[in-house]
Amino acid sequence: SIHLCWLRNDLRVHDNTALWRASQRGQVVAVYLITPATWSEHEEAASKVDFWLRNLTELSRELGERNIPLRLVEVEHWRDAPRALIKLAESMQASSMSFNDEYGVHEQLRDQAVADAFAEADLDCQRHVDQTLFRPGTLLTQSGSMYKVYSQFRKQAYSALHRQLPACLPAPERQQPLYMASDPVPERVKGFQAVSEVIRTLWPAGEHAAADRLALFTEHLLEDYEDTRDRPDIDGTSRLSAYLASGVISVRQCLHAAIGHNLGEFDSGKPGGVSWINELLWREFYKHILVCYAHVSRGEAFRAEYQDFNWRHDPEGLEAWRTGRTGIPIIDAAMRQMLATGWMHNRLRMLTAMFLCKNLLINWQEGERWFMRHLIDGDLAANNGGWQWSASTGTDSAPYFRVFNPATQAQKFDPDGSFIREWVPELSSLSPREIHQPLSPARLAELGYPQPIVDLKASRQRAIAAFRGA
Ligand code: FAD
Repeated sequence: SIHLCWLRNDLRVHDNTALWRASQRGQVVAVYLITPATWSEHEEAASKVDFWLRNLTELSRELGERNIPLRLVEVEHWRDAPRALIKLAESMQASSMSFNDEYGVHEQLRDQAVADAFAEADLDCQRHVDQTLFRPGTLLTQSGSMYKVYSQFRKQAYSALHRQLPACLPAPERQQPLYMASDPVPERVKGFQAVSEVIRTLWPAGEHAAADRLALFTEHLLEDYEDTRDRPDIDGTSRLSAYLASGVISVRQCLHAAIGHNLGEFDSGKPGGVSWINELLWREFYKHILVCYAHVSRGEAFRAEYQDFNWRHDPEGLEAWRTGRTGIPIIDAAMRQMLATGWMHNRLRMLTAMFLCKNLLINWQEGERWFMRHLIDGDLAANNGGWQWSASTGTDSAPYFRVFNPATQAQKFDPDGSFIREWVPELSSLSPREIHQPLSPARLAELGYPQPIVDLKASRQRAIAAFRGA
């Protein structure tokens, strides 16, 4: 009999739980829903939608080698999903459907509606844990609640990993041909702009590209990760976030590669390996937070006392921040990097986020939305977690009085200014010494670079006073 496998952010054939399980039950047909209206509502970046399409093309080839057809169905909205999937299942007399769970509130509602519709139609619907190492809601404190502090969560995750390390599954084997054609993958989806070749070259599609990057990272960069991970001027991190967010690679594949590098250890051993696994566990933590504290997924501050915080209304400041024209070099370099490449270094995500919600006192939700609209790795849990961390409104966030100074951070993490010079051509003629010095208004005008829109010291004090008041 035929088993449908509904693919979403799990665009790979290797170690894909739902796909593997479906292949163990019979003949598989894969299906993917194109839902432009929902994607627009969720502010999905054009670069990310383009990445999905490019990965679907690669995936269709991989599936084709296994005689698994890939059907594409376009509907407007996720609320159309139950009807579209039932119709497809009935048209091919499929007996069941499998998919891997996703964790935003809308995703959960969508999936429940689909599961209910299948139950009503007397069709079997199988759901799997795949995006995370552990089912969200199963790593709990003694009193049975979700952790609010990352280090305690990690401790629990370590002991769960010691008890049982989740294994990677193989790709499905080649099945008997079904004589059903795969649907062509479109070049574009309406409402989403074309994407630059720069972005397409930086983020090549397909699980082979992801595996190559993982191998390069573990063989050459992981050793020094602990020392280089905070340096935006060095290619020191894995740059796998886009692949993880769209499921072109699995977290288990990453974990096993790191453990391999670390001679079998994950909480001890080489500092690079331990530190990278720590980041994979931050990813895990924020996904668990999303499920266990549903108000976070609905866009509210984790800490209720900040829900009605008196943020500044400053459309000009917001626009300067968005376009990389604040007059603070490291902030502008970072924002321009994101606009041009769809990605921003983690240290810079923290700096730019804190600059927006502390120095400019603008609502973190504005920043969260802008990031989502431009990141190729945009992920609700990680993005929201990062923003609430920076805004001091989150679970385990930076205390409100800890405000990064972008100028000193730039000196520390981009010591010779090469990152700034790369992204802010107005400053490219400045020497490594000059680039971190405050420049006179006349010199800035001469270089054609904006005057700083805020005084860093005064705006820091303003933020601390406002947060203390709340
Ligand atoms: P590496 O350093 O190689 O880390 C490996 C993987 O671990 C990453 O690919 C990612 O999946 C995960 N990871 C690393 N750091 C974090 C973290 N702090 N939180 C959650 N997961 C993490 N990450 C996203 O994947 N999508 C987002 O939309 C996103 N938005 C962010 C917004 C803000 C304000 C902040 C401060 C951080 C955000 N992050 C986000 C986390 C982090 O910045 C990126 O995951 C990282 O920069 C991606 O680069 P990399 O793959 O080279 O990371």
